Amino acid sequence: MNSLSQSCAAKPARPKVVIIGGGFAGLWAARRLKRVPVDVTLLDRGTSNLFQPLLYQCATGLLSEGQITQPLRSLLRDHRNATVVLGEAVGIDPDAKTVTARRVNGGSFELGYDYLIVAAGMRQSYFGHDEFAKHAPGMKTLDDALAIRRRVYGAFEIAESLPTAEERAEWLTFAVTGAGPAGVELAGQIRELATRALAREYRNIDPSEARVLLFDGLPSPVTAFGPRMSERASRQLTRLGVELHMGVLVTDVTEAGLTAKAKDGTLTNYRTRTVLWTAGVAAVPFATVLAKALDAVQDRAGRIGVLDDLTVPGHDRIWVVGDIMARDKPLPGVAEVAMQSGYHAAAQVDRKVRLQPARRNEAFRYHDLGSAAYISRYHAIVEFKGIRLSGFPGWLAWGVIHLAFLSGAWNRIRAISTWMVYLTRGRRSERAIPYGDPGAMPYPYSAITQQAES
Ligand SMILES: Cc1cc2nc3c(=O)[nH]c(=O)nc-3n(C[C@H](O)[C@H](O)[C@H](O)COP(=O)(O)OP(=O)(O)OC[C@H]3O[C@@H](n4cnc5c(N)ncnc54)[C@H](O)[C@@H]3O)c2cc1C
Repeated sequence: MNSLSQSCAAKPARPKVVIIGGGFAGLWAARRLKRVPVDVTLLDRGTSNLFQPLLYQCATGLLSEGQITQPLRSLLRDHRNATVVLGEAVGIDPDAKTVTARRVNGGSFELGYDYLIVAAGMRQSYFGHDEFAKHAPGMKTLDDALAIRRRVYGAFEIAESLPTAEERAEWLTFAVTGAGPAGVELAGQIRELATRALAREYRNIDPSEARVLLFDGLPSPVTAFGPRMSERASRQLTRLGVELHMGVLVTDVTEAGLTAKAKDGTLTNYRTRTVLWTAGVAAVPFATVLAKALDAVQDRAGRIGVLDDLTVPGHDRIWVVGDIMARDKPLPGVAEVAMQSGYHAAAQVDRKVRLQPARRNEAFRYHDLGSAAYISRYHAIVEFKGIRLSGFPGWLAWGVIHLAFLSGAWNRIRAISTWMVYLTRGRRSERAIPYGDPGAMPYPYSAITQQAES
């Protein structure tokens, strides 16, 4: 093991800030520290900031990987006090104030810190059935999106060469579990791609016959948007051809299909070769490592309990922000909470470093900017401070919101032009899939999971 700080020995000693995770929360923390006299190290197990809200468009071949990501190095190139390091945090010693990180090739190194901001996010949860991940990729990372793309496009290709209708049917049946915004968006996109982009391209199958089944334990989709919007989403999904299976629990997933249990206990098997999982979230493995080292509490999903100012109790220089933090008054796991909480933690670092008195009240206050979900072409639902939009107005608002938050002007321009081509011609150009199976490893790059399994 070596220490990265040794190689920086010639620099004047300034307080060291380590940020774990370069998602919305970590990136906004780093941005807030741009002009603060500290040395910032941003550690991430990937090289890029990922725009998760558009993962489903990458998964279904509409946007490319490059359109929904931005290299962290490029985003922070003008931050002279920031260093970006690729590696997964696997350990922490709060007495020595060091974080241990693992390189992707297996070596490890240490990062010393004076202030630590943990923004490591969540992973998909299979509710205690991690074995489902082998057959049902989640949708949290770029790897997930590419695994989904491979399975979806691969299924149409396999169906095309199968001799019997019965065999073809199971490859042309797609199951999505979880009818929150991510599941609804993914299910809608698969039906749209089957009915528009793939029309006229096959000779032995009719892609528009593809069935898309959406499962959820709750009685209706996108319940967080309220009954009226949920009802509208149901109607639009049904019109699109998505089959809704609400109020059921998925109890088993195999290579050949899934089993769902109704409220009355009835079990139904569905034959499908493609199951996609968006149903639940759990904290990334590092959360448990952190909680043990800091004697911190975790909620049921593994999030770390924080005080009102987002520090971990007993550790006034360690903040946990974004999706991975748990507060007494829970906040939704959305990008705005992540950005605002990352910024909030960094602002406190700024005040501490400059020896400015802490604000009388350092409590984090979330400014809710609403939420949105895309249903289909020209249909989205948006909720903002009591104003609810659906259909075409909702779709317009959805587009503006997503463009505003997508990183990089070039990515915005490319997204607009791709959407225009899609809207007018129905074309999806990001359909290349690799030969190998990138979805074979449930949590690629997680040294912690690999350690636990070996
Ligand atoms: C499919 C999908 C759709 C969504 N749609 C919306 C939407 O429409 N609107 C909305 O507001 N929100 C949406 N969200 C939620 C939103 O994306 C999250 O709330 C937000 O990304 C959380 O930001 P974060 O920085 O806390 O975590 P993340 O963005 O998940 O970032 C965490 C980072 O930490 C890194 N990391 C993890 N573990 C380690 C480790 N041990 N060491 C080093 N690095 C590590 C990861 O690589 C990642 O870069 C969606 C999420 C998903 C998955």
